[in-house]
Amino acid sequence: MNEEDKRREIVEMVARLETMGLNHGSSGNISMRHGERILITPAGARAANLTAARIVAIDVEGELLDDAEAVPSTEWRIHTELYRDRPEIEAVVHSHADHCVALSCLQKPVPPFHYMIASFGGNSIPCAHYEPFGSDALAFAVVEAARGHMGCLMASHGMIALGRSLGQAGDLTVKLETLARQYILATKAGTPVLLTEEQLAEVHRRYRYYGHSKMPRA
Ligand SMILES: [Zn+2]
Repeated sequence: MNEEDKRREIVEMVARLETMGLNHGSSGNISMRHGERILITPAGARAANLTAARIVAIDVEGELLDDAEAVPSTEWRIHTELYRDRPEIEAVVHSHADHCVALSCLQKPVPPFHYMIASFGGNSIPCAHYEPFGSDALAFAVVEAARGHMGCLMASHGMIALGRSLGQAGDLTVKLETLARQYILATKAGTPVLLTEEQLAEVHRRYRYYGHSKMPRA
């Protein structure tokens, strides 16, 4: 995929998340890796004012690589530090989706109330500890919390989702918001029974087979 295609894909994802109500105003940001370049939404980006040409190219230090008219999102360091830490990751979505934000204010991980929690890579979805928005400390907190996972909450702030493609990061954003909403519903109905380590090990085993023609029996 060339850079122009990736810029267009980012613009489409901003519109998709906005249409789904997963982003409010210009609070979220999206990036993709392109070799040594990181393509990221500009500060203040929203579907109505975003074009492929306004996507900003930076390096891992946050330096602008082109004569850009826009500046990168204030949270650019979350993106660059994740790419530095996770060579397998090609795309990052950061959003202030309502149910993720609500749970992030509890400042604790989302426990395994549902088997799909395991699809983020562990037995719970972590929550990065609180740091001020736009700070280096926040970027480092997110990298540490997300390690070994494909996404996490950010305390009293929002969420991030990672992907080997932007499509995957977008799908995981929708999935995390859905799980957050369902967890809130479950806790309103009662006290959710959490899956055991043994049950989760079986879920991880099945995820490894997922997409293959033969799922493990028993
Ligand atoms: Zn934010």
